Amino acid sequence: MVGMDPMIPTAVTMLANVVGTLRNASDLAKSSTDADLKIAISEAYSALIDLKAKISELDDENRELKAKLAQKENWKRHSKFGYYIRDEEPDAPICQKCYEGGGKIAYLSAVKQEPGGLRRECIQCNHGVYEVRYPQADTRVRGRRGWMGN
Ligand SMILES: [Zn+2]
Repeated sequence: MVGMDPMIPTAVTMLANVVGTLRNASDLAKSSTDADLKIAISEAYSALIDLKAKISELDDENRELKAKLAQKENWKRHSKFGYYIRDEEPDAPICQKCYEGGGKIAYLSAVKQEPGGLRRECIQCNHGVYEVRYPQADTRVRGRRGWMGN
């Protein structure tokens, strides 16, 4: 879950305080014959209802923005290596197998030099990804490479 915005509980707490204070004033006004005071309290109540609506509106907007932000943080599949990366951390890919298997965020190791090439590995499931493959000591491969002129 995305962290709670501290603004919302504070606004709700403040609103509760105002409701309490206004209820107090309303109780005190009951014993008063001052019509203007009663009107003023009634107006304060209606202003409070507007404020509540506004807070609710801001809360909805906040939710929408958080959803958009979460989308922006979404992982994108690397078209060449298959693992997933985020724009924010293009050098910290996560495991394709773990992510596609259950949405698990498992970072791959740094690129390691291995006999077969440069490889990253998932520490959770050991799934490996070669970013660079070394030419195999295989005559067929060597022959084809020669034929292709490189
Ligand atoms: Zn994995």
